[in-house]
Amino acid sequence: MNSFSTQSSCADTNELGSLSAQQALNNMLQAINEKAGDELVPLTEAVDRILAEPIRSTIDVPAHRNSAVDGYAIMQGDLAKADQLSSLLVTGQVVAGHPEHSPLQPGQAIQIMTGAKMPDNADTVIMQEHVERDGQTIRFDARHRAGQNVRQAGEDIQRGEIILAAGIKLSPAQIGLIASLGQAEIRVKAALSVALFSTGDEILNIGEAPREACIYDSNRYSLGAALSKLGCKVLDMGIIPDHPEQLREAFQLAAANADIIFTSGGVSVGEADYTKQILAETGQVDFWKVAIKPGRPIAFGHIDEAVFFGLPGNPVAVMVTFYQFALPCLEKLMGLSQPLLHPNMEVKCSQPIAKRVGRTEIQRGILSQQLDGSWQVKTTGKQGSGILRSMSQANAFIILQHERGPVKAGEYVTVQAFSGLF
Ligand code: AMP
Ligand code: MG
Repeated sequence: MNSFSTQSSCADTNELGSLSAQQALNNMLQAINEKAGDELVPLTEAVDRILAEPIRSTIDVPAHRNSAVDGYAIMQGDLAKADQLSSLLVTGQVVAGHPEHSPLQPGQAIQIMTGAKMPDNADTVIMQEHVERDGQTIRFDARHRAGQNVRQAGEDIQRGEIILAAGIKLSPAQIGLIASLGQAEIRVKAALSVALFSTGDEILNIGEAPREACIYDSNRYSLGAALSKLGCKVLDMGIIPDHPEQLREAFQLAAANADIIFTSGGVSVGEADYTKQILAETGQVDFWKVAIKPGRPIAFGHIDEAVFFGLPGNPVAVMVTFYQFALPCLEKLMGLSQPLLHPNMEVKCSQPIAKRVGRTEIQRGILSQQLDGSWQVKTTGKQGSGILRSMSQANAFIILQHERGPVKAGEYVTVQAFSGLF
């Protein structure tokens, strides 16, 4: 028989020449560094932005000693002795925002509201509910402690203290914290610019009339939405046909105008997949057979200064590879000091799932809470990498690790929920 050789493919049990998903991600992360510059923005526009410099408190919080309850401010020397009652003269009232300037004298109490500044000399507050009031006199027993119910100045935050480190993604709570310092503008990382295009002679723009043997572009819209949601500035470069010259021009234009380039399609071994050839000429790009389903072919590297991600063409594969590989890379490129939490949890799977050892398989799952409060997951059904409905119906990825074999109903699987609270 004549010699006959084939290439490894995603249909092989043992995918020769494949990188594991973890190796592929590690290689990508090692090859990139933060790219973002910074800019000053109003605090009201800063949620979800990445803090570019640490926030140091310019004030003590609280700024002054104040009462933690509604009650009576007194001097600790006037606390009642054991088994006795203390009787004090109420000389006035302080409410929040209106300080009392004359110092308290022994034998006196001032009625005080929550948050109001403590008068000088006063160091203890007796809760309103714990006194008996008769005209201008209050009486209370010996159960109270010196210093109780008073919030000290600087108790939450001291002046000069770093309260937020650079490189965090700002949450509503952190926006509130910065506001509590009275700061109106903050320095955040500038948005990354991302050039995005689809490739393929068969791909149509939305709004175009349908054509025989063609399909509408969905990748540019799913990726564009995901990138915008992350705060990237998306440069939509449209659809580039499978034509070497046009691809070359598009890559060069993208590299000149963006920090990062995303393409989909054209990275497999198909006849019309020129992307490889052109990228080999224009940049330093590797083509990886990653042991992951869906999403096996991924191209990654640089074109000039721009970081290049060549994701697969299939609409599900493009989203899976975006979230499993590009997202952690974007987090680093954007200047996050720590990856965001995308917590995995182990959840009981209510159905069997076919799985082959030796590659990571990412299924689209529906995670739901049972009547007993426990969580359970099932797949969205058909998992073909062209079936975008499987992504749109899902609320979680089911991550079946490299070494894992088939899943039996009732076994635990790793699940990554799509949504977080903040
Ligand atoms: P390719 O890797 O270019 O061979 O594409 C793999 C499959 O994904 C083919 O069936 C393409 O038609 C499809 N595909 C490629 N790009 C897109 C796109 N932008 N939107 C929807 N489907 C696409
Ligand atoms: Mg193609």
